Amino acid sequence: MGPDGLFLVTRTRQGTDLAARLGYAFEEGPVGPYTVVDRFQQTSVAGVYAAGDICRPVHQAIWAAADGSSAGAVCHQSLLGARLPEQKTVA
Ligand SMILES: Cc1cc2nc3c(=O)[nH]c(=O)nc-3n(C[C@H](O)[C@H](O)[C@H](O)COP(=O)(O)OP(=O)(O)OC[C@H]3O[C@@H](n4cnc5c(N)ncnc54)[C@H](O)[C@@H]3O)c2cc1C
Repeated sequence: MGPDGLFLVTRTRQGTDLAARLGYAFEEGPVGPYTVVDRFQQTSVAGVYAAGDICRPVHQAIWAAADGSSAGAVCHQSLLGARLPEQKTVA
């Protein structure tokens, strides 16, 4: 008797050349490269934020939603001129 189904895991890649143009850092994850962010969702380029699958080695909807919420809130704070403690970029 054969299997009832297959669960496939495909590799992912960035959908734009934005990373190459801006030069933010990547790491290699189990399904492809992902953007490195700090705990405030900031990439290695100051003022550039990432959220969701693009900055996660493992993809989950709830993480994407949480990342988007954090990135939006911190981006808003930065536009107000706030400097959050420990807001450092990850090399
Ligand atoms: C088959 C499958 C099943 C899954 N099942 C689950 C599950 O059961 N539970 C769970 O938690 N997660 C699941 N996931 C993962 C979940 O879907 C993702 O983690 C989540 O959708 C990531 O959200 P995101 O906003 O980062 O990216 P996405 O939802 O992929 O949104 C990115 C958006 O950007 C758009 N976009 C891309 N390039 C450009 C561009 N150049 N310009 C403008 N727009 C662009 C895309 O069209 C897309 O609408 C599943 C994923 C897949 C593929």
